[in-house]
Amino acid sequence: MENWEKRLSCAEECSRCDRPLKNKERRILSVVDHQPICLDCKKEEEKNTDYEDASRQMMAECVAQTGKPYGDTASYCFHHFCPFKCT
Ligand SMILES: [Zn+2]
Repeated sequence: MENWEKRLSCAEECSRCDRPLKNKERRILSVVDHQPICLDCKKEEEKNTDYEDASRQMMAECVAQTGKPYGDTASYCFHHFCPFKCT
């Protein structure tokens, strides 16, 4: 999990719709499969009726695994809810 930034933050395409992502383009992690997706796909994901439950569960697991608090903006967990760019 330490290398998540390298593996995920600079993904060159959305894993859901295969749309190319530019480095400066914002992307976000799916709470379902933890893959980087574009913001349009995130909007779709948020429409799922179990999205809230999935989010809560993902967060509990993520915080337990990383030992980092939810509010840590540099944390892997946070990027499931806060868009980020490849840096
Ligand atoms: Zn997409």
